Amino acid sequence: MKRDTHLVVLLLLFIGCSLASLTVWKVLASRDRALEDVNVHGLNLTQALATYSEGIVRQSSLLLLGLVERLETEGSGPLQIRRLSALVNRQQPLMPQLSGITIYDNQGRWLMSSNRPIPAGANSSDRAYFIHHRDDPSREIFIGPPIQSRSNQEWVITVSRRFNDTRGEFAGVVAVTLGIENFLRLFGKIDVGQEGAIGLSYTDGTLLARYPFREQDMGRNFSKSPIYAKYLVDRSVGTASFTSSLDGVERLYAFRKSDKLPLITTVALGKREALTAWRMEALLSAVVVTGLLGLTGLIGWLLILDIRRRTKVEGQLRGTQEQLLSSNRQLELLAMKDALTGLANRRYFDVTLAMEARRAQREGTSLALLMIDIDYFKLFNDSKGHVAGDICLQSVGKVVEECVRRPSDLVARYGGEEMGVIMPDTDIDGAQVVAQLILRRLKQESISHEASPLGRVSVSIGIATAAGSRLDQLQSLIEAADQALYSAKTLGRNQFATHCKG
Ligand code: GH3
Ligand code: MG
Ligand code: MG
Repeated sequence: MKRDTHLVVLLLLFIGCSLASLTVWKVLASRDRALEDVNVHGLNLTQALATYSEGIVRQSSLLLLGLVERLETEGSGPLQIRRLSALVNRQQPLMPQLSGITIYDNQGRWLMSSNRPIPAGANSSDRAYFIHHRDDPSREIFIGPPIQSRSNQEWVITVSRRFNDTRGEFAGVVAVTLGIENFLRLFGKIDVGQEGAIGLSYTDGTLLARYPFREQDMGRNFSKSPIYAKYLVDRSVGTASFTSSLDGVERLYAFRKSDKLPLITTVALGKREALTAWRMEALLSAVVVTGLLGLTGLIGWLLILDIRRRTKVEGQLRGTQEQLLSSNRQLELLAMKDALTGLANRRYFDVTLAMEARRAQREGTSLALLMIDIDYFKLFNDSKGHVAGDICLQSVGKVVEECVRRPSDLVARYGGEEMGVIMPDTDIDGAQVVAQLILRRLKQESISHEASPLGRVSVSIGIATAAGSRLDQLQSLIEAADQALYSAKTLGRNQFATHCKG
């Protein structure tokens, strides 16, 4: 059935579409979740790292505050410097992040260096922090851009303060140097993957430290990068996602601006890398769902094949059934019909007569019976042969049938060249009219029969009718018709005679 196949196809399509869209939806949702997790993770990291960096800067700031206080109250003469040097040497081991503390006079000359002896003629008046404090009367700390140490090539950042003389004039700078190495050591312990990075920068975009370390980035200004140019403009904490203009890698960034210090901490993770686990999960889902869809399709296909096979078998069965029915109908007809004349046969005549007799009794009507016998038929056969006799029989049968018009009437071959006509709801007058008609029509037909005194084929007809309880004995109705036929024969043939029962 086509409808069944369509239904199965529709059902399969529905299942397939639902499953596919559900999977796509689930995979996309889990991607969003994965990205969100990365952002939350990144923000937490920036919080921890910012706290660490702020701590170091604050410690340095406190240390500087103490040194500046003493320099300003006690002056920066050789004696005072020696005392300070001794103090610093005791304090420094308590702050492992500190690379060194240096004091400069108002010309940039070195007055003290915590780590090593002062090189001859050492002068740092060209350094950014020195220039800043010399030109800016502010007493606040200054976090300088990364510089490469002139002595050991180590990358450091400086936290510095200015100190004044008793007149309030610029007297020099105290600077703490913090090795970038210390930051990198901590940053390096955090797994940011192959494409990730952790950065600490100044609010103006100057990079102070970056992991992984890249020499070319040290001190570089990133104020043009979207983090500074776009995101940090109106907020101090947030996440962003964009493609780096430096290496073309798309990254997820979490950034945080320090509340009190001009520092920004950034954690970046490669988006592709961050989504690796999600990609595996999505791939697995796709494989499983594709497998399921394939299996559903296969089952559906087998179902359709089965429906088709069943439909075919049903069609064949129906065909066979129709053939059987039509054969049955033909058999029934054959069983009812006389093969030579095509009239009803004797068996059908008997059944019909019994049935019509009951009906006539029930309805209180009269039933008429005609018995027709061809005159001198033996002579016809003898003179013209049996084949001609058969043809003559067929012709007479046809004539009789033409004379009997009502659908309820039945003409049957009773036996040999004798025919019987059953006429329900017909009285003796009606039966005589039909008998008369048969005789007249045969006369018109004029089938030649030289051996007959008439020179043509004629018949004799016996008529009998009965009604009511007289129909109980059917045999007597037939006998009555036979007797009437006999009378017609003896009266000279080519005529009808009647016999009324009772
Ligand atoms: P009657 O006028 O008294 O009826 O004379 P009849 O010769 O017709 O006598 P009867 O009715 O006894 O004759 C029956 C004959 O009909 C016998 C047989 O040769 C012939 N006959 C019966 N059945 C058939 C048939 O199927 N085909 C042919 N060709 N002849 C048949
Ligand atoms: Mg006869
Ligand atoms: Mg006869």
